[in-house]
Amino acid sequence: MNIATVPPLVPDRSQRTPDDAARRALLQELQLKIALAVEGISFVPEDLRQFPIGTEYAEQIHLLFDMDRHHHGDVELPANFYLPHGLFAQFRWDPESRFQLRAEDGKPVLYRDGERLVDIAFYRRPDLLRLHTSDGESFEHIAAFTPEGGIQVCYSNECDLKLSGDDCKYCNINSTADAYRHDRIFLKTPQQVAEVYAAAHARGLANHINITGGFIPERREVDYYLDVADEIRARTGVAEIHGTAVIGAPLDLRVIERYREAGYTTIAMNLEIWNRDIFRAICPGKEKRCGGWEHWVKALETAAEVFGRGNVRSNIVAGIEPKDSILQGVEYLAAHGVLCYAGAWCPNPGSALEGHRSPEPAWHYDLTLKAATIFHRHGYKTAQLYGGLGASTPFHDAFRILGGENEGDHLPQYRHRQVS
Ligand code: SF4
Repeated sequence: MNIATVPPLVPDRSQRTPDDAARRALLQELQLKIALAVEGISFVPEDLRQFPIGTEYAEQIHLLFDMDRHHHGDVELPANFYLPHGLFAQFRWDPESRFQLRAEDGKPVLYRDGERLVDIAFYRRPDLLRLHTSDGESFEHIAAFTPEGGIQVCYSNECDLKLSGDDCKYCNINSTADAYRHDRIFLKTPQQVAEVYAAAHARGLANHINITGGFIPERREVDYYLDVADEIRARTGVAEIHGTAVIGAPLDLRVIERYREAGYTTIAMNLEIWNRDIFRAICPGKEKRCGGWEHWVKALETAAEVFGRGNVRSNIVAGIEPKDSILQGVEYLAAHGVLCYAGAWCPNPGSALEGHRSPEPAWHYDLTLKAATIFHRHGYKTAQLYGGLGASTPFHDAFRILGGENEGDHLPQYRHRQVS
C-alpha cells in the first residue's frame, strides 16, 4: 500500500481535524515498525556494549518465545524502544538484517543499508524487576512490565504438546525454554504471580495482566487460573482481575464461565490459522486436544456470549495462509464479538518452520490497516483492543491512527485505566 494516499479517518472520529501530513508521518512510522519486526535488526557489537542493557534499559526476557533470528545465550539484547513519533517497537535481532543499530554519542540510532534512518529511545528497565518473591524468585523470571501499566506472565514456559510431537509448527516455546534454561523457571506458582501483581498494584502499575503459557499436562489450566485469581484478590482486594486469561479451547465449553466467575475481564484463545485444512497441518496438537477447528471457533463465540462483545481475543499467525483467508477470519470473528489479531509471523529459531520467511513488510502493513478498518467498522473501541491484548501492537497503532487519536504527528503512549 502506498501511503501517499492516506486512508480516511473513521466516520465517528470525523469531528477531529484531519491532518494528513501528521497521519502520513505516523503511518510511515508504522510501516517502519512492521518492517523492523519482520526483518529484524542487526547491531555492531562494540556499539551495543555502550548501552547499559539489563540495568538502565530493559533487556529481553524470554518468558515464552524467542523472537530473534537465533538464540543468543548470555548476550543481553534490548527489549523495546520508542520510534520518533511515539510508536513502541520490539527489538528482534537478525544478524543479516539491512536495519542496523549503532551508537552515536552514546545514543541509539537506526540505519538502513548504511544510511542513517532515525534516533530511537530504549525502554527503561522497570524498577520492579529488581524485586524478589518471598520464596526468593526474581521478578524478572516471572513477569514483564509494559509501558501501558500492565504485566505479562507466562505461567508455564514449556508446552506439553512436545511429548507427542504435536507442537504447532511455527512455535518455539520448548526450544526457548531449553536455550535459556539456566535462568528460567518452568511453572510459576499462583502465589508467586500474585506477589508480583500485588507489588505492581501497590505502585499503581498492575492495571492489566495477561496470563499465558504452553499446554500443561492434563489441561489443568482452569484450576491454575482460578488459584491465581484467588491469590490476587486475597493480596489486593480487587474485585475483578482486569486482564486476560489465555487458554486453549476447552472441550467442555461450560468451563469458560468459570474464568468469568473467577473475575477475569477478558479471555483469549488463539486459533492461529483460519483455513481449517492448514490449521490441521500447522497446529496438530490444537486440532487433537481441543476438539478441532470448528470447536475452537465455537469456543470463541461462546466466550463472546459469556464475557461480552469485544472482551474476547484471538490471533492468527499472519503469513502462513493467504491474506484473504486471514481477513475472512478477522471479519467473521469481529462480527461475532471477537477481536482477532494477525501478528506477523516471525519464523522463530527452534520451530519446525525455522529458516522459512515471513511475507514482505508491505504485505503485513496492508493486512494491518485492513484489520484495523474491520475493527472500526464493527464499532470496537480502543479500550476493548487493549482490554484483550494489553500491548501496543501494530494493530493498536493503526486503529488509533485511523481513529484520529494522534496528537499532531505523535501517538501518545496508551495507559490502562487504573485498577483499584
Ligand atoms: S499450543 Fe502451540 S503455540 Fe501454544 S505453546 Fe503449545 S506449541 Fe506453542
